[in-house]
Amino acid sequence: MTVPGLAGGRHGVQELQPLLETVCAALADGARARAGAVAAGGPEAVAAAVAAAVGEAMPRSGTGEREALYALVRALAAGAADPAEPYCAAHLHCPPLAVSAAADLAASALNPSLDSWDQAPAASELEARVTAALAELVYPDLPAPDALVTTGGTESNQLALLLARERAAGGPRVQIVCGANAHHSVLRGAWLLGLPRPVVLDTPAGLLDPAAVDAALDELPGRPVVVATAGTTDTGAIDPLPGIGRAVARHGAELHVDAAYGGPLLFSSREAVKLDGLQSAVSVSLDLHKLGWQPVAAGLLAVSDRAALRPLAHRADYLNAEDDSEAGLPDLLGRSLRTSRRPDVLKIAVTLRALGREGMAALVDAVCDHAADLAARIGRHPGLTLYAPPVISTVLFRPSDASDEQVAELRRRLMHEGRAVLGRARAGGRLWLKATLLNPYVRPEELDALLQFTAPDTEGTTAP
Ligand SMILES: *Cc1c(COP(=O)(O)O)cnc(C)c1O
Repeated sequence: MTVPGLAGGRHGVQELQPLLETVCAALADGARARAGAVAAGGPEAVAAAVAAAVGEAMPRSGTGEREALYALVRALAAGAADPAEPYCAAHLHCPPLAVSAAADLAASALNPSLDSWDQAPAASELEARVTAALAELVYPDLPAPDALVTTGGTESNQLALLLARERAAGGPRVQIVCGANAHHSVLRGAWLLGLPRPVVLDTPAGLLDPAAVDAALDELPGRPVVVATAGTTDTGAIDPLPGIGRAVARHGAELHVDAAYGGPLLFSSREAVKLDGLQSAVSVSLDLHKLGWQPVAAGLLAVSDRAALRPLAHRADYLNAEDDSEAGLPDLLGRSLRTSRRPDVLKIAVTLRALGREGMAALVDAVCDHAADLAARIGRHPGLTLYAPPVISTVLFRPSDASDEQVAELRRRLMHEGRAVLGRARAGGRLWLKATLLNPYVRPEELDALLQFTAPDTEGTTAP
Protein backbone atom coordinates (compact mmCIF):
# COMPACT_ATOMS: atom_id res chain seq x y z
CA MET A 1 0.00 0.00 0.00
CA THR A 2 1.20 3.52 -0.76
CA VAL A 3 1.61 5.96 2.10
CA PRO A 4 -1.49 8.06 2.78
CA GLY A 5 -1.17 11.58 1.38
CA LEU A 6 -1.84 14.82 3.25
CA ALA A 7 -4.73 17.09 2.31
CA GLY A 8 -2.92 20.38 2.89
CA GLY A 9 0.43 21.82 1.98
CA ARG A 10 1.95 22.28 -1.45
CA HIS A 11 1.02 18.83 -2.67
CA GLY A 12 -2.35 18.54 -0.99
CA VAL A 13 -4.32 19.26 -4.11
CA GLN A 14 -2.52 16.56 -6.06
CA GLU A 15 -3.50 14.10 -3.36
CA LEU A 16 -7.05 15.32 -3.07
CA GLN A 17 -8.13 15.64 -6.66
CA PRO A 18 -8.14 11.95 -7.61
CA LEU A 19 -9.80 11.06 -4.31
CA LEU A 20 -12.53 13.59 -5.00
CA GLU A 21 -13.29 11.83 -8.25
CA THR A 22 -13.77 8.66 -6.25
CA VAL A 23 -16.00 10.43 -3.76
CA CYS A 24 -18.15 11.91 -6.52
CA ALA A 25 -18.45 8.54 -8.29
CA ALA A 26 -19.45 6.86 -5.02
CA LEU A 27 -22.02 9.56 -4.24
CA ALA A 28 -23.55 9.18 -7.69
CA ASP A 29 -23.61 5.36 -7.60
CA GLY A 30 -25.01 5.31 -4.07
CA ALA A 31 -27.79 7.75 -4.92
CA ARG A 32 -28.68 5.64 -7.97
CA ALA A 33 -28.80 2.49 -5.86
CA ARG A 34 -31.13 4.17 -3.36
CA ALA A 35 -33.32 5.69 -6.06
CA GLY A 36 -35.48 7.78 -3.75
CA ALA A 37 -35.89 9.76 -0.59
CA VAL A 38 -34.58 7.11 1.74
CA ALA A 39 -33.15 3.60 1.78
CA ALA A 40 -36.03 1.13 1.60
CA GLY A 41 -36.54 -1.84 3.92
CA GLY A 42 -36.15 -0.18 7.30
CA PRO A 43 -33.40 -0.64 9.89
CA GLU A 44 -32.77 -4.35 9.22
CA ALA A 45 -32.23 -3.95 5.50
CA VAL A 46 -30.03 -0.92 5.98
CA ALA A 47 -28.00 -2.60 8.71
CA ALA A 48 -27.46 -5.64 6.49
CA ALA A 49 -26.35 -3.49 3.55
CA VAL A 50 -23.98 -1.49 5.74
CA ALA A 51 -22.59 -4.65 7.32
CA ALA A 52 -21.95 -6.09 3.85
CA ALA A 53 -20.20 -2.92 2.67
CA VAL A 54 -18.18 -2.35 5.82
CA GLY A 55 -17.24 -5.87 6.73
CA GLU A 56 -14.58 -5.51 9.37
CA ALA A 57 -14.56 -1.90 10.58
CA MET A 58 -10.84 -2.05 11.41
CA PRO A 59 -9.20 -4.67 9.20
CA ARG A 60 -5.69 -5.74 10.05
CA SER A 61 -4.43 -4.58 6.65
CA GLY A 62 -5.99 -1.61 4.93
CA THR A 63 -7.91 -1.83 1.67
CA GLY A 64 -6.38 1.35 0.26
CA GLU A 65 -7.69 4.90 0.01
CA ARG A 66 -9.78 4.62 -3.12
CA GLU A 67 -11.39 1.32 -2.22
CA ALA A 68 -12.27 2.53 1.28
CA LEU A 69 -13.62 5.85 0.05
CA TYR A 70 -15.69 4.25 -2.66
CA ALA A 71 -17.09 1.45 -0.52
CA LEU A 72 -18.10 3.53 2.46
CA VAL A 73 -19.23 6.71 0.71
CA ARG A 74 -21.35 4.59 -1.63
CA ALA A 75 -22.80 2.68 1.32
CA LEU A 76 -23.63 5.91 3.12
CA ALA A 77 -25.29 7.42 0.05
CA ALA A 78 -27.22 4.23 -0.72
CA GLY A 79 -28.43 4.09 2.87
CA ALA A 80 -29.14 7.80 3.25
CA ALA A 81 -32.22 9.82 3.95
CA ASP A 82 -31.20 12.52 1.50
CA PRO A 83 -32.82 15.91 2.16
CA ALA A 84 -32.10 16.94 -1.42
CA GLU A 85 -34.74 14.41 -2.52
CA PRO A 86 -38.17 16.05 -2.87
CA TYR A 87 -39.93 13.39 -0.76
CA CYS A 88 -37.45 13.64 2.11
CA ALA A 89 -39.04 16.34 4.24
CA ALA A 90 -39.30 15.13 7.81
CA HIS A 91 -37.02 17.33 9.83
CA LEU A 92 -35.20 20.63 9.96
CA HIS A 93 -32.53 18.75 8.07
CA CYS A 94 -31.70 20.81 5.03
CA PRO A 95 -30.23 19.93 1.66
CA PRO A 96 -26.86 21.69 1.80
CA LEU A 97 -25.77 23.89 -1.08
CA ALA A 98 -23.03 22.45 -3.26
CA VAL A 99 -20.97 25.61 -2.84
CA SER A 100 -21.17 25.26 0.93
CA ALA A 101 -20.16 21.59 0.87
CA ALA A 102 -17.24 22.51 -1.40
CA ALA A 103 -16.13 25.20 1.04
CA ASP A 104 -16.36 22.66 3.84
CA LEU A 105 -13.88 20.47 2.01
CA ALA A 106 -11.39 23.35 2.05
CA ALA A 107 -12.04 23.76 5.76
CA SER A 108 -11.13 20.11 6.28
CA ALA A 109 -8.05 20.30 4.07
CA LEU A 110 -6.63 23.39 5.80
CA ASN A 111 -7.94 22.40 9.21
CA PRO A 112 -7.59 25.72 11.01
CA SER A 113 -8.61 25.30 14.63
CA LEU A 114 -10.27 28.30 16.18
CA ASP A 115 -8.93 27.99 19.70
CA SER A 116 -5.86 30.12 19.07
CA TRP A 117 -4.73 32.65 16.51
CA ASP A 118 -1.56 30.70 15.71
CA GLN A 119 -3.72 27.82 14.41
CA ALA A 120 -6.15 29.96 12.47
CA PRO A 121 -4.78 33.37 11.51
CA ALA A 122 -7.04 34.10 8.53
CA ALA A 123 -9.90 31.89 9.66
CA SER A 124 -10.21 33.78 12.95
CA GLU A 125 -10.37 37.12 11.14
CA LEU A 126 -12.94 35.73 8.71
CA GLU A 127 -15.00 34.49 11.64
CA ALA A 128 -14.84 37.89 13.32
CA ARG A 129 -16.12 39.61 10.17
CA VAL A 130 -18.87 37.15 9.35
CA THR A 131 -20.16 36.94 12.91
CA ALA A 132 -20.21 40.76 13.05
CA ALA A 133 -22.33 40.85 9.88
CA LEU A 134 -24.71 38.20 11.21
CA ALA A 135 -24.97 39.93 14.59
CA GLU A 136 -25.96 43.07 12.71
CA LEU A 137 -28.57 41.12 10.78
CA VAL A 138 -30.18 40.20 14.11
CA TYR A 139 -29.63 43.54 15.86
CA PRO A 140 -29.47 46.22 13.13
CA ASP A 141 -30.28 49.07 15.52
CA LEU A 142 -27.88 48.28 18.35
CA PRO A 143 -24.33 49.66 18.65
CA ALA A 144 -22.37 46.62 19.81
CA PRO A 145 -24.00 43.28 19.03
CA ASP A 146 -21.88 40.16 18.57
CA ALA A 147 -22.35 36.52 17.62
CA LEU A 148 -20.61 33.23 18.36
CA VAL A 149 -20.40 30.25 16.06
CA THR A 150 -21.88 27.15 17.69
CA THR A 151 -22.70 23.58 16.74
CA GLY A 152 -26.39 24.46 16.61
CA GLY A 153 -29.45 25.51 18.53
CA THR A 154 -28.74 23.15 21.40
CA GLU A 155 -25.34 24.67 22.13
CA SER A 156 -26.66 28.19 21.45
CA ASN A 157 -29.49 27.77 23.94
CA GLN A 158 -27.14 26.31 26.53
CA LEU A 159 -24.72 29.20 26.09
CA ALA A 160 -27.56 31.71 26.37
CA LEU A 161 -28.68 30.17 29.65
CA LEU A 162 -25.10 30.03 30.89
CA LEU A 163 -24.60 33.75 30.15
CA ALA A 164 -27.87 34.51 31.95
CA ARG A 165 -26.73 32.45 34.94
CA GLU A 166 -23.43 34.33 35.06
CA ARG A 167 -25.14 37.73 34.83
CA ALA A 168 -27.12 36.72 37.89
CA ALA A 169 -24.05 35.43 39.77
CA GLY A 170 -24.09 36.48 43.40
CA GLY A 171 -27.89 36.83 43.47
CA PRO A 172 -30.67 34.25 43.47
CA ARG A 173 -30.44 31.50 40.89
CA VAL A 174 -31.92 32.38 37.52
CA GLN A 175 -35.42 31.04 36.90
CA ILE A 176 -36.16 30.10 33.30
CA VAL A 177 -39.71 30.53 32.00
CA CYS A 178 -40.60 28.94 28.69
CA GLY A 179 -43.58 27.56 26.82
CA ALA A 180 -44.53 23.92 26.46
CA ASN A 181 -43.70 24.57 22.79
CA ALA A 182 -40.03 25.30 23.61
CA HIS A 183 -37.28 23.05 22.30
CA HIS A 184 -36.20 20.24 24.63
CA SER A 185 -32.69 21.71 24.74
CA VAL A 186 -33.97 24.53 26.96
CA LEU A 187 -34.92 22.05 29.69
CA ARG A 188 -31.69 20.13 29.27
CA GLY A 189 -29.68 23.34 29.34
CA ALA A 190 -31.24 24.32 32.66
CA TRP A 191 -30.54 20.82 33.99
CA LEU A 192 -26.92 20.90 32.80
CA LEU A 193 -26.30 24.32 34.33
CA GLY A 194 -27.81 23.47 37.69
CA LEU A 195 -30.62 25.99 37.29
CA PRO A 196 -34.01 25.48 38.91
CA ARG A 197 -36.51 23.50 36.84
CA PRO A 198 -37.92 25.88 34.23
CA VAL A 199 -41.46 27.12 34.68
CA VAL A 200 -43.17 25.65 31.63
CA LEU A 201 -46.27 27.54 30.55
CA ASP A 202 -49.09 25.79 28.73
CA THR A 203 -49.33 26.65 25.05
CA PRO A 204 -52.76 25.31 24.11
CA ALA A 205 -52.76 27.26 20.83
CA GLY A 206 -49.14 26.24 20.15
CA LEU A 207 -47.87 29.68 21.12
CA LEU A 208 -46.54 31.31 24.26
CA ASP A 209 -49.22 33.77 25.39
CA PRO A 210 -47.88 37.18 26.56
CA ALA A 211 -50.60 37.33 29.22
CA ALA A 212 -49.46 33.97 30.61
CA VAL A 213 -45.86 35.23 30.63
CA ASP A 214 -47.01 38.36 32.43
CA ALA A 215 -48.86 36.34 35.06
CA ALA A 216 -45.95 33.95 35.57
CA LEU A 217 -43.48 36.81 36.00
CA ASP A 218 -45.78 38.39 38.60
CA GLU A 219 -45.11 35.36 40.79
CA LEU A 220 -41.34 35.19 40.36
CA PRO A 221 -38.71 37.16 42.26
CA GLY A 222 -35.39 38.33 40.83
CA ARG A 223 -34.61 38.56 37.15
CA PRO A 224 -36.12 35.54 35.40
CA VAL A 225 -35.25 34.66 31.82
CA VAL A 226 -38.10 34.07 29.41
CA VAL A 227 -37.30 31.81 26.47
CA ALA A 228 -39.53 32.37 23.46
CA THR A 229 -39.40 30.38 20.24
CA ALA A 230 -39.32 31.82 16.73
CA GLY A 231 -40.13 28.79 14.63
CA THR A 232 -41.10 25.82 16.76
CA THR A 233 -39.65 22.50 15.70
CA ASP A 234 -43.08 20.88 15.48
CA THR A 235 -45.16 23.48 13.63
CA GLY A 236 -42.89 26.40 12.73
CA ALA A 237 -45.03 28.72 14.87
CA ILE A 238 -43.50 31.99 16.02
CA ASP A 239 -44.31 33.15 19.54
CA PRO A 240 -45.73 36.72 19.64
CA LEU A 241 -42.40 38.42 20.30
CA PRO A 242 -43.57 42.05 20.68
CA GLY A 243 -46.12 41.16 23.38
CA ILE A 244 -43.71 38.84 25.18
CA GLY A 245 -41.01 41.52 24.97
CA ARG A 246 -43.35 44.03 26.61
CA ALA A 247 -44.23 41.64 29.44
CA VAL A 248 -40.53 40.90 29.98
CA ALA A 249 -39.63 44.61 30.02
CA ARG A 250 -42.45 45.43 32.43
CA HIS A 251 -41.02 42.96 34.94
CA GLY A 252 -37.35 43.78 34.41
CA ALA A 253 -36.83 40.20 33.24
CA GLU A 254 -34.72 39.06 30.28
CA LEU A 255 -35.73 37.52 26.96
CA HIS A 256 -33.84 34.86 25.00
CA VAL A 257 -35.31 33.92 21.62
CA ASP A 258 -34.69 30.47 20.24
CA ALA A 259 -34.83 31.28 16.53
CA ALA A 260 -32.86 28.20 15.52
CA TYR A 261 -35.42 27.58 12.79
CA GLY A 262 -36.99 30.98 12.10
CA GLY A 263 -33.93 33.23 12.49
CA PRO A 264 -32.86 33.10 8.84
CA LEU A 265 -36.21 34.67 7.85
CA LEU A 266 -34.22 37.84 8.56
CA PHE A 267 -32.51 37.47 5.19
CA SER A 268 -35.84 38.14 3.47
CA SER A 269 -37.41 41.58 3.69
CA ARG A 270 -40.76 39.92 2.94
CA GLU A 271 -40.48 37.33 5.72
CA ALA A 272 -38.45 39.29 8.31
CA VAL A 273 -41.57 41.10 9.57
CA LYS A 274 -42.57 37.82 11.21
CA LEU A 275 -39.65 38.35 13.61
CA ASP A 276 -40.61 41.86 14.69
CA GLY A 277 -39.70 42.26 18.35
CA LEU A 278 -36.61 40.04 18.08
CA GLN A 279 -34.31 42.93 18.97
CA SER A 280 -35.67 43.13 22.50
CA ALA A 281 -33.98 39.77 23.26
CA VAL A 282 -30.63 39.75 25.05
CA SER A 283 -29.67 36.73 22.97
CA VAL A 284 -30.91 34.89 19.90
CA SER A 285 -30.12 31.34 18.73
CA LEU A 286 -30.16 30.72 15.01
CA ASP A 287 -29.10 27.82 12.86
CA LEU A 288 -27.85 28.05 9.31
CA HIS A 289 -27.97 24.27 8.97
CA LYS A 290 -31.76 24.50 8.83
CA LEU A 291 -33.13 27.48 6.92
CA GLY A 292 -29.63 28.37 5.70
CA TRP A 293 -28.67 25.40 3.51
CA GLN A 294 -25.39 24.64 5.29
CA PRO A 295 -24.09 21.19 6.15
CA VAL A 296 -24.19 20.58 9.91
CA ALA A 297 -22.77 22.30 11.94
CA ALA A 298 -23.60 25.96 11.40
CA GLY A 299 -25.15 27.44 14.53
CA LEU A 300 -24.96 30.95 15.92
CA LEU A 301 -25.71 32.66 19.18
CA ALA A 302 -26.19 36.40 18.71
CA VAL A 303 -26.05 38.71 21.72
CA SER A 304 -27.37 42.26 21.86
CA ASP A 305 -24.20 43.54 23.50
CA ARG A 306 -20.76 41.98 23.20
CA ALA A 307 -20.15 42.69 26.89
CA ALA A 308 -22.55 39.79 27.52
CA LEU A 309 -19.81 37.41 26.35
CA ARG A 310 -17.32 38.40 29.07
CA PRO A 311 -18.08 35.41 31.30
CA LEU A 312 -16.63 33.16 28.59
CA ALA A 313 -13.17 34.71 28.96
CA HIS A 314 -10.67 32.04 29.87
CA ARG A 315 -6.89 31.66 30.01
CA ALA A 316 -4.74 28.71 29.02
CA ASP A 317 -1.11 29.61 28.77
CA TYR A 318 -0.43 27.53 25.68
CA LEU A 319 -3.28 29.13 23.75
CA ASN A 320 -3.64 32.72 24.94
CA ALA A 321 -0.82 33.65 27.32
CA GLU A 322 -1.30 37.09 28.79
CA ASP A 323 1.91 38.41 27.24
CA ASP A 324 0.82 37.08 23.82
CA SER A 325 -2.47 38.94 24.18
CA GLU A 326 -0.65 42.08 25.28
CA ALA A 327 1.60 41.75 22.24
CA GLY A 328 -1.50 41.83 20.04
CA LEU A 329 -2.30 38.18 19.30
CA PRO A 330 -6.09 37.87 19.17
CA ASP A 331 -7.56 35.82 22.00
CA LEU A 332 -10.05 33.27 20.69
CA LEU A 333 -10.76 31.15 23.76
CA GLY A 334 -13.57 33.42 24.91
CA ARG A 335 -15.50 32.75 21.68
CA SER A 336 -16.59 29.26 22.63
CA LEU A 337 -16.65 26.67 25.39
CA ARG A 338 -15.00 24.26 23.00
CA THR A 339 -11.24 24.14 22.54
CA SER A 340 -10.36 22.64 19.12
CA ARG A 341 -12.98 24.09 16.82
CA ARG A 342 -13.69 23.64 13.11
CA PRO A 343 -13.85 26.73 10.89
CA ASP A 344 -17.58 26.28 10.24
CA VAL A 345 -17.57 29.93 9.38
CA LEU A 346 -15.87 29.28 6.03
CA LYS A 347 -18.84 27.58 4.39
CA ILE A 348 -21.15 30.24 5.83
CA ALA A 349 -18.90 33.05 4.56
CA VAL A 350 -18.64 31.53 1.09
CA THR A 351 -22.41 31.04 0.89
CA LEU A 352 -23.20 34.59 2.02
CA ARG A 353 -20.75 36.03 -0.48
CA ALA A 354 -21.81 33.80 -3.36
CA LEU A 355 -25.54 34.35 -2.94
CA GLY A 356 -25.64 37.70 -1.19
CA ARG A 357 -28.49 38.59 1.11
CA GLU A 358 -30.80 38.62 -1.91
CA GLY A 359 -29.86 35.10 -2.88
CA MET A 360 -30.47 33.85 0.66
CA ALA A 361 -33.79 35.70 0.70
CA ALA A 362 -34.82 34.05 -2.57
CA LEU A 363 -34.25 30.59 -1.05
CA VAL A 364 -36.11 31.53 2.14
CA ASP A 365 -39.03 32.93 0.15
CA ALA A 366 -39.07 29.85 -2.08
CA VAL A 367 -39.50 27.36 0.76
CA CYS A 368 -42.13 29.55 2.44
CA ASP A 369 -43.98 29.70 -0.90
CA HIS A 370 -43.78 25.92 -1.29
CA ALA A 371 -45.28 25.48 2.18
CA ALA A 372 -48.15 27.84 1.34
CA ASP A 373 -48.65 25.95 -1.92
CA LEU A 374 -48.66 22.56 -0.20
CA ALA A 375 -51.14 23.82 2.40
CA ALA A 376 -53.45 25.08 -0.37
CA ARG A 377 -53.28 21.68 -2.09
CA ILE A 378 -54.14 19.95 1.19
CA GLY A 379 -57.03 22.37 1.68
CA ARG A 380 -58.44 21.37 -1.73
CA HIS A 381 -57.87 17.66 -1.18
CA PRO A 382 -61.06 15.82 -0.21
CA GLY A 383 -59.27 13.18 1.88
CA LEU A 384 -56.78 15.31 3.80
CA THR A 385 -57.02 17.77 6.68
CA LEU A 386 -54.65 20.69 7.19
CA TYR A 387 -53.65 21.57 10.77
CA ALA A 388 -53.13 25.29 10.18
CA PRO A 389 -51.75 27.66 7.55
CA PRO A 390 -47.94 27.42 7.68
CA VAL A 391 -45.96 30.23 9.27
CA ILE A 392 -42.54 29.25 7.88
CA SER A 393 -42.06 26.08 5.86
CA THR A 394 -43.66 23.39 8.03
CA VAL A 395 -47.01 21.92 7.04
CA LEU A 396 -48.99 19.57 9.32
CA PHE A 397 -51.69 17.43 7.78
CA ARG A 398 -53.34 14.03 8.07
CA PRO A 399 -55.72 11.73 6.26
CA SER A 400 -59.06 13.07 7.50
CA ASP A 401 -60.52 9.83 8.81
CA ALA A 402 -57.37 8.19 10.15
CA SER A 403 -56.71 7.46 13.79
CA ASP A 404 -53.46 8.62 15.40
CA GLU A 405 -52.21 5.02 15.22
CA GLN A 406 -52.93 4.92 11.49
CA VAL A 407 -51.09 8.22 10.98
CA ALA A 408 -48.04 6.86 12.81
CA GLU A 409 -48.25 3.60 10.84
CA LEU A 410 -48.57 5.47 7.51
CA ARG A 411 -45.42 7.46 8.27
CA ARG A 412 -43.46 4.30 9.05
CA ARG A 413 -44.81 2.52 5.96
CA LEU A 414 -43.78 5.34 3.58
CA MET A 415 -40.33 5.30 5.13
CA HIS A 416 -40.07 1.51 4.98
CA GLU A 417 -41.03 1.52 1.31
CA GLY A 418 -38.37 4.16 0.64
CA ARG A 419 -41.00 6.45 -0.85
CA ALA A 420 -41.01 9.38 1.52
CA VAL A 421 -39.77 10.52 4.88
CA LEU A 422 -42.29 12.70 6.64
CA GLY A 423 -42.08 13.82 10.24
CA ARG A 424 -44.68 13.52 12.95
CA ALA A 425 -45.96 16.13 15.38
CA ARG A 426 -48.57 16.20 18.09
CA ALA A 427 -50.69 19.35 17.98
CA GLY A 428 -54.17 20.17 19.19
CA GLY A 429 -54.39 16.76 20.85
CA ARG A 430 -53.84 14.79 17.63
CA LEU A 431 -50.96 13.25 15.73
CA TRP A 432 -50.12 14.84 12.37
CA LEU A 433 -47.84 14.13 9.47
CA LYS A 434 -45.24 16.86 9.23
CA ALA A 435 -43.69 18.08 5.98
CA THR A 436 -40.76 20.37 6.69
CA LEU A 437 -40.04 21.90 3.29
CA LEU A 438 -36.43 23.00 3.02
CA ASN A 439 -35.74 22.10 -0.60
CA PRO A 440 -36.03 25.35 -2.52
CA TYR A 441 -36.36 23.54 -5.84
CA VAL A 442 -39.22 21.13 -5.10
CA ARG A 443 -41.77 21.19 -7.95
CA PRO A 444 -45.57 21.54 -7.69
CA GLU A 445 -46.12 18.06 -9.16
CA GLU A 446 -43.81 16.66 -6.49
CA LEU A 447 -45.91 18.29 -3.79
CA ASP A 448 -48.96 16.64 -5.34
CA ALA A 449 -47.23 13.27 -5.43
CA LEU A 450 -46.27 13.62 -1.77
CA LEU A 451 -49.93 14.12 -0.91
CA GLN A 452 -50.98 11.18 -3.06
CA PHE A 453 -48.68 8.92 -1.04
CA THR A 454 -50.62 9.84 2.09
CA ALA A 455 -54.16 10.15 0.79
CA PRO A 456 -56.49 7.31 1.86
CA ASP A 457 -57.85 6.48 -1.62
CA THR A 458 -54.44 5.96 -3.20
CA GLU A 459 -52.87 3.52 -0.76
CA GLY A 460 -50.75 1.04 -2.59
CA THR A 461 -49.99 3.12 -5.67
CA THR A 462 -46.35 3.24 -6.62
CA ALA A 463 -44.13 6.27 -6.66
CA PRO A 464 -44.06 8.13 -9.97
C1 LIG B 1 -33.39 22.46 15.78
C2 LIG B 1 -33.75 23.28 16.93
C3 LIG B 1 -32.94 23.35 18.06
C4 LIG B 1 -31.71 22.48 18.21
O1 LIG B 1 -30.76 22.84 17.28
P1 LIG B 1 -29.57 21.85 16.89
O2 LIG B 1 -28.92 22.61 15.79
O3 LIG B 1 -30.21 20.58 16.43
O4 LIG B 1 -28.72 21.69 18.07
C5 LIG B 1 -33.30 24.20 19.07
N1 LIG B 1 -34.42 24.93 18.98
C6 LIG B 1 -35.24 24.87 17.92
C7 LIG B 1 -36.47 25.71 17.90
C8 LIG B 1 -34.94 24.04 16.85
O5 LIG B 1 -35.75 23.96 15.81
